[in-house]
This record gives sequence, structure tokens and C-alpha cells, in this order.
Amino acid sequence: MPERSPVIFERLALIGVGLIGSSIARAARAQGAVRSIVATARSQATRERVRELKIADQVVETNLEAAKGADCIIVCVPVGACGAVAAEIGSVIKPGAIVSDVGSVKGAVLRDMAPHIPAHAHLVPAHPVAGTEYSGPDAGFAELFENRWCILTPPVGANEKAVAKLKAFWQRLGANVEVMDATHHDLVLAITSHLPHLIAYNIVGTAADLEAGTRSEVIKFSAGGFRDFTRIAASDPTMWRDVFLNNKEAVLEMLGRFNEDLAALTRAIRTGDGDTLFDSFARTRAIRRSIIEVGQETAEPDFGRRHSAHDPETPLPRPYASD
Ligand code: NAP
Repeated sequence: MPERSPVIFERLALIGVGLIGSSIARAARAQGAVRSIVATARSQATRERVRELKIADQVVETNLEAAKGADCIIVCVPVGACGAVAAEIGSVIKPGAIVSDVGSVKGAVLRDMAPHIPAHAHLVPAHPVAGTEYSGPDAGFAELFENRWCILTPPVGANEKAVAKLKAFWQRLGANVEVMDATHHDLVLAITSHLPHLIAYNIVGTAADLEAGTRSEVIKFSAGGFRDFTRIAASDPTMWRDVFLNNKEAVLEMLGRFNEDLAALTRAIRTGDGDTLFDSFARTRAIRRSIIEVGQETAEPDFGRRHSAHDPETPLPRPYASD
């Protein structure tokens, strides 16, 4: 039997055990990345479910209990709640511990968490760019991060060993790791993830506002492109509210550019300018091909997505990113 690599962390604390927290728990255990996992969640119901799922060695009642004695603490809650969690656990973080998160926005997380992390610990924010539209501890699966990017955004002057250790952890979970500045992360993700979600929420909302008769037709003929928007628009409202509130500048910047380009396409349709439409669509088709070439999507019909209801025990045919 091949020898297993040594554990990266002795005691991993997960604060928040939804889609991402529970996927980390499952993947860390499957890959032998940690000796033990202690987990907690906000509600009694979620903590109970995590106990039933047996994905952590210990499920505790409070964030303080989880953080105490852990050599890595990963905060897996909505972006808007990260600061309050850091304030709560700050006093019990042990010397040398790594504190991280998984939030989809990095500048605001750094701003909100950093003041509460003691100087003897290391804050290294992270964002696994992998997800689905499902939430909660049942939604997670061990393969979620395989061949997905995980972006680390350490603050200036961060401890290099701590960054390297967290990088090794995410690599063990199957992710490709990139290190970048939080502001840059937020700008890139504004266009690749945040704006697409806003557009999906908007188009599905517009369709839902149509009068009842038309609405049934929308659902009936949804295969014509609309259906993929509905998948994205089914994403967790709390998480996405926090993303837009906390990445305001970058999203508004990208939204401005988007509106200008949309105005150009609108004009081309109105004036019958087929060349402009054709050139624009041909350019974007090439972008899709290059995404498939780098392995971040599949060319299979319907993007290789499962069609039955989500079964957390069965991994996706090919992991896909929604975030
Ligand atoms: P989720 O499935 O909804 O789970 C969220 C967890 O956070 C739950 O355990 C919840 O506890 C807890 N929580 C919620 N509000 C809280 C609060 N105010 N204080 C303390 N705990 C709270 O969410 P998720 O999809 O795992 O997302 C978690 C984080 O990952 C977010 O920051 C998100 O931006 C980021 N992320 C998400 C995706 C994605 O596709 N979903 C991808 C990458 C990164 P209860 O269940 O007890 O309420």
C-alpha cells in the first residue's frame, strides 16, 4: 500500500459547515490532510446534521470552543459575517495558528477580520473558486475542489511559511493554488462570477414578473438558454447579498462596462448592423473554446451536468464552478 503523506494540520476547525465547509471536511478527511476536524455552525439544526453525517471528529456548540487549540481555523460563513466571527474567536486563537476563510470577496474579509487576529497568529484569506447552487452540510462533496482554483490573498508582510502551509493544504484537497492581491481578486471575480450572478438573478426575476400565462411558457421552453440562468439564480440569497454589498466598487465598475457594451449591441440590433453582431458573437465563441481547453469546463452536452435532483453522495460527473 502506498505510504500516505503526513497530515498538514493537527486540528482543523471549521466555523460554518455549509456547502463549502462540509466539502472541506469531506476532502480533508479523504485526503488525510488533517489529524482531526472540529466543526460548528450557527444553528442547532445544522450542528445536529453535521453530527449525523459524521463528517467531523467533534461538533461543538460555539465558535470559541471550535477555535480553541486549533492550528488552522477556516471560517466558512457568508462574507458579511466573517468580521463578527473573527471578533468572537480572536482571544482564543493559539500562537502560530493559521486563520483563513473561503469568502467570495477578499478585500472586505481582510478589512473585517484582520483587526481581530492576534499578532501571534497568521491571517491568510482564501477563496476556493468552486461551488454549486446548493447550500448546507448535505450539499458538500469531497471532490468539489479537484482541478479548481483556490486563490489565496495574504496581506502584505504575511508569514511565508503560513502561506505555504495553507497552499499545501488546498493542493492536497485537489485545488490549483494561485496567490494574488485582494483588490485584484475582487476585480477579476467581479466580472467572472459576481456580474454573471447578478445578470442571472435579473433575467430570471424579469421573467418571473411577466404575467401568469407567459410565465408558464417561460418554464416550458426554458431549454433555450434560460435554464442555465435559472441554475445560477438558484444560488443562496444570503451569500450573494453579502457578495454585492462587500464588492460594491468592483461590481459597479464592471457593470458600467457591461452596460456600455450592451448599449452597443442594442444599437446594432436596432440599426440592423449584422456585422457588429456577428463579430461580437464570433469573438465570445473563441473564449468559450479556450475555457474548455484549459479544463475549467466540459464540452459535453449541457456542460456535463447531472439532471436528477442533487444527491450529495454521488459526485458530479465533472466538477464545475459556479462561484
Ligand atoms: P452555506 O451552505 O449557506 O453555509 C453557510 C454556513 O455559515 C452555515 O453553516 C451557516 O450556519 C453559517 N452561517 C450563516 N450565517 C452566519 C452568521 N451570520 N454567523 C455565523 N455563521 C453563519 O454557504 P456556503 O455556500 O458554504 O458559503 C460559505 C462561504 O463560502 C461564503 O462566504 C461564500 O461566499 C463562499 N463560497 C461559496 C461558494 C458557493 O458556490 N456556494 C463558492 C466559493 C466560496 P447555519 O446552517 O446554522 O445557518
